[in-house]
Amino acid sequence: MGILIQNAKIMGGAGSFKAADVAVSDDGIIEKVSSSIRPSSSHERVDASGHVLLPGLVNAHTHAAMSLLRGVGDDLQLFEWLRTCMWPREAKMDGRSILLGTRLALCEMIRSGTTCFNDMYFNMDLVAQATEEAGLRATLGYSMIDRAKSGEGVAFDFEGKGRKELAIAETFAKKIQKKKNPLITSSIAPHAPHTCSKELLEASAKLAGKLGCVLHVHAAETRKELAEVLALTKKGSAARRPIDYLDSCGCLTSRTVLAHGVYASKSEVKLVSSRSSSVAHCPVSNLKLAGGGAAPVPEFLAAGANLSLGTDGAASNNSLDLFQSMKVGAIEQKNFRFDASAVKAEDYLRMATEGGAKALGIRAGKIEKGYLADLVLLDARSPNLVPFSSNAGWLVYSAGPQNVTDVMVQGKWLMRGRKLLTLDEEKIMAEAQKRAEKLG
Ligand SMILES: [Zn+2]
Repeated sequence: MGILIQNAKIMGGAGSFKAADVAVSDDGIIEKVSSSIRPSSSHERVDASGHVLLPGLVNAHTHAAMSLLRGVGDDLQLFEWLRTCMWPREAKMDGRSILLGTRLALCEMIRSGTTCFNDMYFNMDLVAQATEEAGLRATLGYSMIDRAKSGEGVAFDFEGKGRKELAIAETFAKKIQKKKNPLITSSIAPHAPHTCSKELLEASAKLAGKLGCVLHVHAAETRKELAEVLALTKKGSAARRPIDYLDSCGCLTSRTVLAHGVYASKSEVKLVSSRSSSVAHCPVSNLKLAGGGAAPVPEFLAAGANLSLGTDGAASNNSLDLFQSMKVGAIEQKNFRFDASAVKAEDYLRMATEGGAKALGIRAGKIEKGYLADLVLLDARSPNLVPFSSNAGWLVYSAGPQNVTDVMVQGKWLMRGRKLLTLDEEKIMAEAQKRAEKLG
């Protein structure tokens, strides 16, 4: 049965809203958008009066299972936080922890209007299982690292560790491809340019090309990473910065998602654009970890690069709320540039919708005929959204998860009237609490 959403306000041109009806086919595709659509007997009718209909938000960089580590070591410096809080707990995360952390993240994502996410972590079979059960759309990749942990300086172990990591990533990616679930795709995910050897980065690029996958990698996130990559690459030739280095390993293509991009130079901004790669801008995580920089968003926009928006994991953000990321990202840029016009609200709304969908190669992120019906309803009759004003700023600077009432992915409801339909939220929260306490 198709669905007819009537009397909603949807985003029109120039960042303003217009009243419209939207018809969704029984296979979950938007088949018509018009000021008035005559209902047929084959439609489930939804009266969306007083609501805004948005394309589902796309979280272009996260680690869902890390929701179990939310709030641990909040006010520590980055390395101390990793060493004393994250790594010991991650070592204790068994399969049950991964399942629960992911399920908890999925509840939060649906409640905050996210319909699709791009994830890299370990134990990805379980992340895929939880995601399939919940009905969200996702691109999933096993996060590979072959940096040797012991010893001074940066050392890698491609022959010993890297090849094993690559085999796990390839097996997982092929398994996902074989399932042919239209909602779940795979990525190849080398962790970062300073945690993977050159051989692993080059092999990852080749594998992603062979499988036709997204290549998902952290890049230019911190000053420490920048210094390490410059030091690693200075032998023999001119030192390379992280994004430039990834390109020299073949990692920058139109299927590449670079998480962060904070320390991208002017020439790297141009490089990202010329390779048609995407950046997953993660402002809240960057600010919370006190990286000190702000991603060069106006430069990326001016260069025509595709920007998407991510939260990063809930361990470094404390939430998976993309409404918050839109607002914080925009106001961070304004403040950093001493210029309230440095970026616009519609730039950030585009990143969280169309930009994310483009980065992951899915036909979503717009309410137009032929696009996937990944849709979100917000109740505009809420104190924080009154008075209504027909512009993107009304949404980006004022709206939040508390306004999200209904969510569908490919025409299937995951939340109706604020009730989650595919996840047992109470049970998940209770079990996640117990499991997090066990991790310490
Ligand atoms: Zn990350």
